[in-house]
Amino acid sequence: MTGGGFDEVAVLGHNLSVPSPLTVFFSPAYVVKGKSETVTKSRLVAQLIEAGRAGDVRLLAPKAATRRELETIHTPEYVRSTFDDKQSFLEVGPWSQPLLDSILASTGGMRDAVNEALLSGRSGSLSSGLHHARRAAGNGFCQFNGLALAALEALKEVRRVGILDLDAHAGGGTFDILGDDKRVYLADVTVNGFDSWEPSAPDRHFYVDISDPRTYLDQVERTLRHLEPVEFLIYNAGMDTYEKAGGLKGITKEIIRKRERRVVEWARQRKVPAIFALAGGYKSGGLTLEQVAELHLETVKAFAD
Ligand SMILES: [Zn+2]
Repeated sequence: MTGGGFDEVAVLGHNLSVPSPLTVFFSPAYVVKGKSETVTKSRLVAQLIEAGRAGDVRLLAPKAATRRELETIHTPEYVRSTFDDKQSFLEVGPWSQPLLDSILASTGGMRDAVNEALLSGRSGSLSSGLHHARRAAGNGFCQFNGLALAALEALKEVRRVGILDLDAHAGGGTFDILGDDKRVYLADVTVNGFDSWEPSAPDRHFYVDISDPRTYLDQVERTLRHLEPVEFLIYNAGMDTYEKAGGLKGITKEIIRKRERRVVEWARQRKVPAIFALAGGYKSGGLTLEQVAELHLETVKAFAD
């Protein structure tokens, strides 16, 4: 769906007012059959996008993350062991070439999304398994921290980057890698204490753990205010906050929809380029993988709209 509609309208001479399609990064390499949601659900989200369910969106295959660029966010020893230690256990399963290729493709998707958003204002990647990976080790299904890689990529062009993490769990890995970087603003609204972190720079770090779902959207709003100084936004759009996807009871689909629309509106009003990653979202609460994919589609729709 690379915009037949776009060409038709251009022929009619109305092309000046036609917004370009949203470019979202994905390739079949992201997917490893028979494994956890982290490396399987992107295929279903991609199918929904190809069926036109998210609006005017084109899918593009990214360039895989390279060893050299991974060493800008992780220790060389950790990168080496992930690539070469074939007896090791990766965060998403026993070492295999398809799993490594999946991790490299979806990490690279975050970097390519940054460059697309710097050109067109918005993008995303159907990537998951990012924010728990710390500098010297993987953690919680996350092998490499594509959010951190995306931040460093954006910082080649802008002065201050924000990472908005609305996954159910905390982004302790991102804090481990970028917490001391004065150019990076971290904002984390969690409903689960896993991988929590202690803010060490009040002007750049915002962390709140929610137990009352009625306060959730207000806290998201406070979080966005904290991100006011940033010139680029990286959004970790986890769906595991949703009550039926392993999240907090009372966080409904309607709340999640409002959340997605609000984040996009915030970035647009400020003309801040923004990208998203899928992040968490699991069948554990009784959903099918198709239902998990439908949830993630809310993020893609909001960005495409
Ligand atoms: Zn999570």
